[in-house]
Amino acid sequence: MKFGGTSVEDAKAMLRTAAIVAGRRNKGLEAIVVVSAMAKVTDQLLAAAAAAGRGDKAGAMAISARLRHRHIDTGTELLDEQRFAALQASVHQEFDALDDLLRGIAAVGELTARTSDLVVSFGERLSSRMVAAAFDQQGLNGTHVDARSCIITDANYGKAAPQEPAIEAKLTELVLPLVEAGKTPVMGGFIGSTVEGITTTLGRGGSDYTAALVGGGLHAGAIEIWTDVNGIMTTDPRIVPDALRVKTISFEEAAELAYFGAKVLHPATILPAVQKSIPVWVLNSRNAENEGTKITAVAPRCKSPFKCIAAKKKLTIIDIVASRMLMSHGYLKSVFDVLDKYKCVVDMVSTSEVSISLTVDSNERLPEIAEELSKIADVKMEGNKALICMVGEDIRGHNGIAGQVFTAVSHVNVRMISQGASEINMSFMIDEEDVEEAVRSLHKNFFASPDENIFDVTARVPAESRA
Ligand code: ADP
Ligand code: ASP
Ligand code: MG
Repeated sequence: MKFGGTSVEDAKAMLRTAAIVAGRRNKGLEAIVVVSAMAKVTDQLLAAAAAAGRGDKAGAMAISARLRHRHIDTGTELLDEQRFAALQASVHQEFDALDDLLRGIAAVGELTARTSDLVVSFGERLSSRMVAAAFDQQGLNGTHVDARSCIITDANYGKAAPQEPAIEAKLTELVLPLVEAGKTPVMGGFIGSTVEGITTTLGRGGSDYTAALVGGGLHAGAIEIWTDVNGIMTTDPRIVPDALRVKTISFEEAAELAYFGAKVLHPATILPAVQKSIPVWVLNSRNAENEGTKITAVAPRCKSPFKCIAAKKKLTIIDIVASRMLMSHGYLKSVFDVLDKYKCVVDMVSTSEVSISLTVDSNERLPEIAEELSKIADVKMEGNKALICMVGEDIRGHNGIAGQVFTAVSHVNVRMISQGASEINMSFMIDEEDVEEAVRSLHKNFFASPDENIFDVTARVPAESRA
């Protein structure tokens, strides 16, 4: 069971989380709990690290002091006197270590990826201790496990790759005996360590991934991702408030959706689950009675072509035109060699005889990449782009879908289109500022009369009774 930042954002949320876990235990189920840092803490730790890296010691220390207060205040509200005394000591110890670290970074005036991971790890280290103490108090036999003792990764700081066989061995050695002894292990998500014991992180949103690694590593009966919405919705409810809950979705569809921007699930989450056929659920910790979304190997057929619409912002389009290389082979390779050198991930590609357009995450290395590419071709870059991705396994069976999609967004300037690669998505690039409007228009078009077997329509207010 993984609880995201909002599910542990304060004492009340932590107690709701405890009640949800108690519900599972009362049904005779054993749970291992993975928690995120309290809401917004990761962002603030990154801000503190960045301030220290600029040499702004006072700024970094001020952020840390505010975080210390927030954790101590939450502990006071959450725990009885005796448990609070024990927790307080360890919270202060962690923050003293964090302050030392920030002072060190400020003194050097340089923030490396490795040090940044260490700073940001404090969020999950603290939240997991607090939740474990709360679980102990609530009669759940909560026991804290330092995730770094089990989640073994490579040393690619900021986005470390988990080493699954090592993780499985550690989980079996350290966590399984706790479960067998009737305890509820609580560990932080997102963080790990190299075999040498150096702290790493799995990338933003990585707590979902931790949950999948733990569930996969110990062959759990299910992986539950508890968040702040009723499940996977037809699109981001922040853009379309009347987005519908998707009752069931396939692994393939969910992976596509997550990869192309739906923040509700980390893209790597489903992998360990797919390999071991473990069902994954997305559930709402603020509305625990709701059925959520079930992610399974095979999704039931749906009457409509699409299940979800995702949007991914902060992308750059690179147009590469080779004037000199007409008809020569090895051209694509030379372009991708450059991207490979900078470990640049490409989302979408379209080519003609002499030109290639591709989209990449906007990042600080783009000028270097452009310079290198310009040795082999003319290069143009356009930032502030976004990708809209329509996902559904039933695209295959429908004719005229592209026509419908592009009619729905006919007022928007479409820069690149891709369909076919996976047969379960149709994607296109637009300007970032058009995202909201495009998503709303597509949603209105494709989810006006949803298939009730797939989507939860009970939450939808009938059109005739809407103001
Ligand atoms: P957590 O902290 O629990 O991991 P996140 O903020 O990472 O939560 O993810 C949940 C958020 O994802 C939701 O509040 C919602 O705004 C956003 N989201 C984006 N796309 C979708 C979607 N298709 N379905 C549900 N939520 C989505
Ligand atoms: N706390 C981390 C983040 O905000 C990991 C997570 O919550 O999944 O990215
Ligand atoms: Mg998340």
